[in-house]
Amino acid sequence: MSNNGSVKSVTTGGEAVQASLLVGTVVDFAGVTRAKGVPLRRLSTFVTSGMGASQTWPVFCVDNGVAFTPSIGVSGDLRFRIDVDKVRPIDDGVAGGPADFYNQDGSPSALCSRARLAAVVEHASERGLVPMMGTELEFVLTTLTGERLPKASWTAYGINAFVTHRAFLVDLTETLERAGVGTEQIHAEHGEDQFEVSLAPAAPVDMADGCVLTRILIGSVAERHGMAVSFSPMPWVGGSGNGAHLHLSLKRQDRPLFGGGDGPHGLTVEGGSAIAGIIGGLNELMGIYAGSVISAQRLQPGRWSGASAGWGLENREAAVRFLAATTGNPHGANVELKIVDPSANIYLAAAALLGSAVNGIDNNLPLPAELATNSAESAVALNAEQFSVLAALENSPLAARILGPDIVEGVVAVRRHEATQYADKSPAQIAEAVRFAWSA
Ligand code: GLU
Ligand code: MG
Repeated sequence: MSNNGSVKSVTTGGEAVQASLLVGTVVDFAGVTRAKGVPLRRLSTFVTSGMGASQTWPVFCVDNGVAFTPSIGVSGDLRFRIDVDKVRPIDDGVAGGPADFYNQDGSPSALCSRARLAAVVEHASERGLVPMMGTELEFVLTTLTGERLPKASWTAYGINAFVTHRAFLVDLTETLERAGVGTEQIHAEHGEDQFEVSLAPAAPVDMADGCVLTRILIGSVAERHGMAVSFSPMPWVGGSGNGAHLHLSLKRQDRPLFGGGDGPHGLTVEGGSAIAGIIGGLNELMGIYAGSVISAQRLQPGRWSGASAGWGLENREAAVRFLAATTGNPHGANVELKIVDPSANIYLAAAALLGSAVNGIDNNLPLPAELATNSAESAVALNAEQFSVLAALENSPLAARILGPDIVEGVVAVRRHEATQYADKSPAQIAEAVRFAWSA
């Protein structure tokens, strides 16, 4: 680290990052990114002993309330330590990176979602499985004060958004390239002023870190161009929802499980079991994937949010969309879990997806029948009603096994706080209240 004058630099990932302010981020159980900053000279303390944070940090809520649990109260303290290898430039003078929660005695905290994802990856690798994950970030641009942009029309997937918003999009492309997040593509989405950035597959923790960083960068670039960003699952009721689809592929000894086999569309037997495990876990893990007070507004048939319980080849209504290995799919066969929305803690959603796939393999679950094409009408719609989703999560042995009882208890407490807090509000009032809750 150099320390000359006010501009300092930190070498991370092989590159020197210039910054004065270093920000460490953690994602709480409500899916909100929280942060602490230090002058860059405090880097080594941030890495080794970490910064103090009350026990309540993981259970802060979208309205900034606190969801106390029997094990999380006002006493005690956590430390969070920044991962120095993941520090990237964010904006003029600011660099940031993900952090992990530790206890004061230096042991890892059972409440750390990032460490939990790492543990689920480790569990998979002990079984000889190598997972890769990708994600898609959908968001809606608004005015700086949070209203819809003044504009007469919007062309879904249109070229005109690239003309109208070219300054924002060029800046965004350059900023994301500089940060090395692995942008795959950017397009105008179906909803008004809605865009999508998709990221290349990576190891699961890298994918989640990259997603958090990308959200911060999208917010920061939008702000430079006089706009704000909503990552709410349903920014305006009746409009298009924002998804946070997760892609997963698995290999064993360099052999993909979702391709090259004798099953439907090239699935191997283990690949089929992985899909069975994911589908078998949907109801119990819905509170992790799409558990917020506004999530049910998005998760409905006909919205391409994957509200049908099942899987299907390139089926955008199925919770699990299967992407076969073809010439047009250079990353190889994978599954896309469409029900995930941006209110989810991305580390926990990734852990739940991977953990349930591995559970299916461990138990040799048989591949369920594929949903019929265009199955939106005929398929069973997933239940997204918040109270029942939370009851299923709370009583799920699968969730407790994958995520640990402390995390499950914390997530349920946070989401119940939301459900209670907004119980007497209309969907439109809720949408307004949480429109920017997940914005960075
Ligand atoms: N916006 C949709 C969602 O809520 C997804 C549209 C798409 O398939 O990209 O998930
Ligand atoms: Mg999309």
